[in-house]
Amino acid sequence: MSDCIFCKIAAGDIPARRVLETENCVVFHDISPAAPLHLLVIPKQHLASADALREEHQALAGELLLAAAEAARQEGATESGYRLVMNTGHNAGQEVMHIHLHVLGGRSFKWPPG
Ligand code: AMP
Ligand code: ZN
Repeated sequence: MSDCIFCKIAAGDIPARRVLETENCVVFHDISPAAPLHLLVIPKQHLASADALREEHQALAGELLLAAAEAARQEGATESGYRLVMNTGHNAGQEVMHIHLHVLGGRSFKWPPG
């Protein structure tokens, strides 16, 4: 999508601090980190949110999750632990309408979330 900021990051048209790229996904640092480690994992393909996922996206959804785990390992967050978050829609506070997984680490997190 031409006016989507994460599509532009995936295409390399907007700079981002990339940490990992797989065939169909890109992982980069969040521009406004909510934790010492805050990565975003996105598919190169534009999908608005988890609500857009269908049967045909099964492999892509798996790749997204594997890329998140690999990036967390690469950034040294595995031993202490980390949180994966996918905000979906208004009540969850989703701001960027291109599906993304947050990888949050480097501190402890409360449960339930606020
Ligand atoms: P969400 O509220 O789940 O939609 O999260 C969107 C996230 O994207 C926020 O944590 C923002 O800080 C982050 N973000 C927005 N623009 C950029 C950008 N250009 N580069 C990196 N992260 C961004
Ligand atoms: Zn997009």
